[in-house]
Amino acid sequence: MQTHILGYPRIGSKRELKKACEQYWSGKISATDLIESGHTIRKQNWQLQKEAGIDLIPSNDFSFYDQVLDMTLTVNAIPNRYKEVVGAKPLDLYFAMARGYQKDGVDITAMEMTKWFDTNYHYIVPEFKKDQEFQLLSTKIIDEFSEAKKIGILTKPVLLGPVSYLLLGKEKEEGFHRIELIHKLLPVYLEILTQLQTLGAEWVQFDEPFLALDLSNYEKEVLLGTYRTIQKEFPQLKTIIATYFDGLKDNLALATSLPACALHIDLVRSPEQLTEVLQQAPKDLSISLGIIDGRNIWKNNFQNSLEKIQLAVDKLGSDRVMIAPSCSLLHSPCDLELETNEAVLTSEIKNWLAFAKQKVDEVATLKQLAEGNNDESIIAKLQANIAANASRKTSTLIHNNAVKERVNAITEADAKRINPYSVRQKTQDKILGLPLYPTTTIGSFPQTKEVRTWRSKFKKGEITTEEYNALLKAETETAIRWQEEIDMDVLVHGEFERNDMVEYFGEQLDGFAFTQNGWVQSYGSRCVKPPIIYGDVQRPTAMTVEWSAYAQSLTEKLVKGMLTGPVTILQWSFVRDDQPRSVTCNQIAFAIRDEVSDLEKAGIKIIQIDEPAIREGLPLRKDDWQTYLQWAIKAFRISSTGVEDETQIHTHMCYSEFNDIIQNIADMDADVITIECSRSQMELLDAFVQFNYPNEIGPGVYDIHSPRVPSKEEMVALLEKAKAVIPERNLWVNPDCGLKTRHWEETKKALTEMVEAAKVLRSKV
Ligand code: GLN
Ligand code: ZN
Repeated sequence: MQTHILGYPRIGSKRELKKACEQYWSGKISATDLIESGHTIRKQNWQLQKEAGIDLIPSNDFSFYDQVLDMTLTVNAIPNRYKEVVGAKPLDLYFAMARGYQKDGVDITAMEMTKWFDTNYHYIVPEFKKDQEFQLLSTKIIDEFSEAKKIGILTKPVLLGPVSYLLLGKEKEEGFHRIELIHKLLPVYLEILTQLQTLGAEWVQFDEPFLALDLSNYEKEVLLGTYRTIQKEFPQLKTIIATYFDGLKDNLALATSLPACALHIDLVRSPEQLTEVLQQAPKDLSISLGIIDGRNIWKNNFQNSLEKIQLAVDKLGSDRVMIAPSCSLLHSPCDLELETNEAVLTSEIKNWLAFAKQKVDEVATLKQLAEGNNDESIIAKLQANIAANASRKTSTLIHNNAVKERVNAITEADAKRINPYSVRQKTQDKILGLPLYPTTTIGSFPQTKEVRTWRSKFKKGEITTEEYNALLKAETETAIRWQEEIDMDVLVHGEFERNDMVEYFGEQLDGFAFTQNGWVQSYGSRCVKPPIIYGDVQRPTAMTVEWSAYAQSLTEKLVKGMLTGPVTILQWSFVRDDQPRSVTCNQIAFAIRDEVSDLEKAGIKIIQIDEPAIREGLPLRKDDWQTYLQWAIKAFRISSTGVEDETQIHTHMCYSEFNDIIQNIADMDADVITIECSRSQMELLDAFVQFNYPNEIGPGVYDIHSPRVPSKEEMVALLEKAKAVIPERNLWVNPDCGLKTRHWEETKKALTEMVEAAKVLRSKV
């Protein structure tokens, strides 16, 4: 039996890589220093795995920015526009592709970045031309193998598989499909393998996550052809084909028939596939059991895992069984041992968790247990694991029967407004008295350096709660006065009291825990620290009412209450795995529902519940979409429907490609939805138009991602476009998203122009 790791986090347990990269970018350290910091991190990671007793330790899982971009450099698929940067050092060319380049009169934008499957990691999208050529350029894969070999570790290089590499990219010209480029790409991979073999590599891992997605027949043929070629050219090389993030499903026969030494499967996302994979595995194929959750922070359940391992051993024999995490540990925080502050993370909760370093140890321990090692230390680990899991099952910290009963008792009426939208609209018209083309914003106003300094002083105890609140109140009042001045119709309080739209709520809800160092790479040097939802979620007291009521007390105009929706809170957290995600989502939904009621009672007439993450929660396989959408949309409805007809519910979503889920968006039944639209010149509205979307809609009229100030005329033109396709009565006027990351200067100019643009439209009625 062998253990292996598919990839280890590369940011460093204290975010050393983030710091080094950012220092290099700002000119504070040299390229040599940066390269050295990469070397140190790799060495630490390899040694840590070696000490834990892992058999196959990965290399090339390190990256200064992104592993897909690394492959683009390896095969020299550098887009032409970067040729101008070629004079620069290789590292600068690399970062130019990742982040854009502005120097000495050269101004080139970065390559596109997008989400890595359904994770919160983002990769740099390869660009392909019809006459695309590939050559071996960067020798990173080979160099890192040699580097490890020098310190006595014969690694298993990890290569993004050639088929997945192509599929992750984009055609930049018409008239071809990127998968056709395989014939040109494969020779470069063969060259890499030749070099690795010459250096003594025994194992190579090819990541082909697309095997867990819907594949066309042609793509299936290409996969088969590719691995046949590799097998033919390198019969001695032990290849692992790694799949993750979903089950193989209809690709199971294909995956087990690929000529390889081992097939890795994700048994966390798809435990049910084990039996069939074991049945179908040809007799020379090993199966790597992805049994430890690489994307979540919970301790493994050794007893359950040992049962699965036994099943595999019975069927295949122990020498054909491998044990591993479900996917690369890139998606886990680094080291639980760094969580030393009992006030942040209690030892009771900590005892339920395992981060990357602990998961490595779990993999090694499972092998020992499966092989029947009954050394005292190993048995002690098993007993500790059983005890931790038992305590999680029964802990009063986790289980709150009142919450469970409330969720169990959900009725259709909990998820429905009193009257249909057409009736509500008339009631709201009377109560709210808004003009046509009402103007509003998405919620946050600029979080200036001052605001962030106040918060950090408050957290460090350098200023009191009273002082902190007084500062925030003053900032809120300034924002309210300014909105009145420019004649905005629906005001917001500005969200100055919030650090982050999920953390702010998590910190006030029962069932959430936070870490000091639980960072996970999101893209490049950017890391996020998701909250941990460990228990039944309950709202002990109102979370936002004071701020909204205070803001409303300052003005005769309407102030919109501002909440984050249940699906978004779920999606941006580490979620408990001892109950379905839908149940956790419903618990959050009830907490938000209570907050909505309290806001209504406090006299807030318009309440926005942001759900920017609904779309990104979509499962990888289309077949699974409706199941997800059903519970997700219902959770939103639970959160939003406990109000009178006259209370107007808004929702907001950022990425607005809604074509295939527009029915579900309509089912949310928000009175008003605001969406991102300006960069597509209102094209994203098409889905709503074709569907005859019945409720009100605010298509963003300016892009908040750029400091550029749009002119009134530009926004009038966009609104004219919208008006041509959406009934004028249903249109709102607002920016694309929140203004948190902008400066006041451009914000003031842009919003003043926006209000004027709405007035132009009104004057034409
Ligand atoms: N209300 C939030 C804000 O304005 C919405 C942010 C988002 O959609 N991502 O910041
Ligand atoms: Zn947004």
